[in-house]
Amino acid sequence: MSDEKELDTRDSVEETASTDEDGSRDSFEEVCFMCHRPESKAGKMVHLPNNICVCSDCMQKAFDAMNKGGFPYGDLSQLQNMPNVSMINLSDLMNQVPQRQKIKKKKPKEEPEKAFDVKSIPAPHKIKAGLDEYVIGQEHAKKVISVAVYNHYKRVAGDPDGDIEIEKSNMLMIGPTGCGKTYLVKILARLLDVPLAIADATSLTEAGYIGDDIESVLSKLLAAADNDVEKAERGIVFIDEIDKIAKKKNTNQRDVSGESVQQGMLKLLEGSEVEVPVGATSKNAMVPMTTMNTKNILFICGGAFPGLEDIIKERLNKQASIGFQADLKDKYDDDPNILEKVTLEDIRKFGMIPEFIGRLPIVFTLQGLTQDMMVEILKEPKNAILKQYQKLLAMDEVQLDFDDDALQSIAAKALEKKTGARALRAILEEFMLDIMYEIPKDENIGRVVITRDYIEHKGGPLITMRGVPLLHG
Ligand code: ADP
Repeated sequence: MSDEKELDTRDSVEETASTDEDGSRDSFEEVCFMCHRPESKAGKMVHLPNNICVCSDCMQKAFDAMNKGGFPYGDLSQLQNMPNVSMINLSDLMNQVPQRQKIKKKKPKEEPEKAFDVKSIPAPHKIKAGLDEYVIGQEHAKKVISVAVYNHYKRVAGDPDGDIEIEKSNMLMIGPTGCGKTYLVKILARLLDVPLAIADATSLTEAGYIGDDIESVLSKLLAAADNDVEKAERGIVFIDEIDKIAKKKNTNQRDVSGESVQQGMLKLLEGSEVEVPVGATSKNAMVPMTTMNTKNILFICGGAFPGLEDIIKERLNKQASIGFQADLKDKYDDDPNILEKVTLEDIRKFGMIPEFIGRLPIVFTLQGLTQDMMVEILKEPKNAILKQYQKLLAMDEVQLDFDDDALQSIAAKALEKKTGARALRAILEEFMLDIMYEIPKDENIGRVVITRDYIEHKGGPLITMRGVPLLHG
């Protein structure tokens, strides 16, 4: 009788727990007592007495263990007669069972509207227009990438019986650090709504050595595609710092993180069936594997290639010193756009093996950022840093403005750091910290202007109170 009553109360606890504010019973899900996975991951639960749920996997495992004689002690009743063995009292265990063994379900995410569809891939100028909204400058790179991606996805969607096979448009991007290589690829993947994996070539080593296996880049892509192999096979893999796997010079040891990695990547770049560990960066007996075909995966490699300029200059100077042009020997020494003149031979000389370069048919360079480009990066892109701060302060009904020479000063400081546009946010954050801290204190403040003096530590920002006519700007 008392048992029945207890059961009743528990039921009513469960009822209240699982009923949401809007009255729906479905907003809570049960969690497996053994593996702690929720119903949405582990599937239907088996209900045991005392409010315990166990998923069918764990239930099956328990049965299997018993059937296989996995329980090593044979007859359980024998155990009781052994010294120092006390049987577990189930009711003690029950006390540890939480009354409410459920977690709130996450609301399903609304599908974001697709910008482009891979099957009806937009014309290159539309792709470029999409990139223009976010990426400043780099006109040549944006154009090349738009055309290459257009052709690539046409090839993916194209008819399989065509007698002319279109070559894969894998790319090699060369440009100084922080000039927008990764950013360009991220925006591109977002525009096309394809999964993107970003990997660092420095972490890759030949299989069997410490580091990530080369196939780990595909594992990342698979994870980005929510383990949907078909979706991942249309994705983009960006391998950064590719210059770090150049052939090591003057070494007698086995080059496990350089030339061997290039060799290992050949078959991925070209397109082949690859065994990929799921959810891990290296293969081992414990990791489940799946097969992925890399035929339609677009590989984009990027790197700063320090020292490449000297190789190009040396070649150009050598050419210039032949024949009539001999007097122009040093004319390339101060050329800021020297990188644009790169040839495959220069890249080979840098240490990339010919087979590797051959599988990246589209090679292009990005420019180092100038001070004016930095200023534009601060204010022009759709999600520009300045716009973000302005929006934050607008929520407090405060108008935030930046003087043009203040922006120039921020850009100049960022240039000195030599890390490209990456330095901009750090610098701005340093100055905005005080503003974001102080301004909400005083409700009468209506406008703040960041001046050059403030950036150069010679004065403060200009602050205007509400209702006072604006004098500045
Ligand atoms: P890298 O060339 O080293 O891969 P990133 O693409 O990671 O550099 O750039 C770092 C950050 O700088 C990006 O997240 C982006 O916010 C900003 N950035 C760099 N270049 C540009 C650019 N041309 N236009 C807009 N933002 C840029």
